Amino acid sequence: MNAARVLEVYNRLLDCYGEPGWWPARSTYEVMVGAVLTQNCAWSNVVKAIDNIGGRLSPGFILDADSAELIAMIRPAGFFNQKAGYLKAVTRWYQRYGFDAEAVRREPLSKLRGELLGAKGVGRETADAILLYAFGLPSFVVDAYTVRLLERLNMDAGKGYEEIKRSFELNLALTDHNNVGVYNRYHALIVVHGKERCHKKPACAGCPIADMCGYKADENIGA
Ligand code: SF4
Repeated sequence: MNAARVLEVYNRLLDCYGEPGWWPARSTYEVMVGAVLTQNCAWSNVVKAIDNIGGRLSPGFILDADSAELIAMIRPAGFFNQKAGYLKAVTRWYQRYGFDAEAVRREPLSKLRGELLGAKGVGRETADAILLYAFGLPSFVVDAYTVRLLERLNMDAGKGYEEIKRSFELNLALTDHNNVGVYNRYHALIVVHGKERCHKKPACAGCPIADMCGYKADENIGA
């Protein structure tokens, strides 16, 4: 990848879509719950599941909840049997720190990431989303929208999650933009762009990065 190009994509997406204001949640713990529930699930269904839990949502409630009761509440998010277990696993991880976000932030990022990846049901994307959006730690999040966008822009960030993540972080460092705010907005903007325009079959009209894109087969390009 090229650092200037990485920053140019960021700036253009930000100019086009504005401040994304992520993550939509009322607390650190709600971000963690949302990050688990959103696996293979539309956000609108995550909201329904969280709404079912309502004002009871807290680490203590999830840990103590009867599995059948928890499954019923998170049913809208799909894969509810597994996700009930994942929620308890990630909550047990948070329990190690006394459910204290400041205590989490005092630990080295690599240690936290390793611990989260050891929790049942927490993959790389979920772990990084929790670190970045729940705890405000600089861990770039990669997802399917990111991979698709990189391919279309002919930006070689390497292969696999870890290489792509590292490539973003290194290139943003080269432009002095490797900070939590940029990581937060960049991933959110890629998701917004993927949902609004850069679909599997893209709607390229008005795309702010059309002139940087290699997806020239699409007749909408430049429209
Ligand atoms: S021009 Fe089309 S394919 Fe390329 S980034 Fe924009 S929306 Fe995606």
